[in-house]
Amino acid sequence: MILEILKSTNPILKKKAKPVKAVTKEIRDLIRDMEETMRAAPGIGLAAPQVGHSIRLILVDIGEGLHVVINPKITQRAGSHVMVEGCLSVPRIEAPVERSEKITVKGMNPQGKNIEIKAEGLLAIVFQHEIDHLDGVLFVDRVKDKNLIRYVPPKETGKEVL
Ligand code: ZN
Repeated sequence: MILEILKSTNPILKKKAKPVKAVTKEIRDLIRDMEETMRAAPGIGLAAPQVGHSIRLILVDIGEGLHVVINPKITQRAGSHVMVEGCLSVPRIEAPVERSEKITVKGMNPQGKNIEIKAEGLLAIVFQHEIDHLDGVLFVDRVKDKNLIRYVPPKETGKEVL
């Protein structure tokens, strides 16, 4: 089932999401619906609060396979790097954001197993963007120079992918 993606004015997107205590059937169904929603958007990442569930669950797929991480936590960071980002919840807006270049993410997979992912480049950026959603932070909140926030006219394709 394709879910509605909430827009940035929705208060759920400003809240700190709660940890997932157990991977229930409800959670597994939500993961399936979130994957369908992310692919349909189309997007390369989606966080549960974006579809109205204030829980710590993210999906990421930059075209190299799907990562589903429950209660994700960044345990290591290195370097820094700036990329123009967009967000499915902030349509038609893009701006450069500075983030860590390499990160290690720990969490749990849908089978309830502890996992650790080492990510760099685009994958690292998408993980940081999605984990920010769990803390009520939008990419525009991280833009240092607000003059660099750009409106993308409807005839152009924006980077509304995260
Ligand atoms: Zn986003």
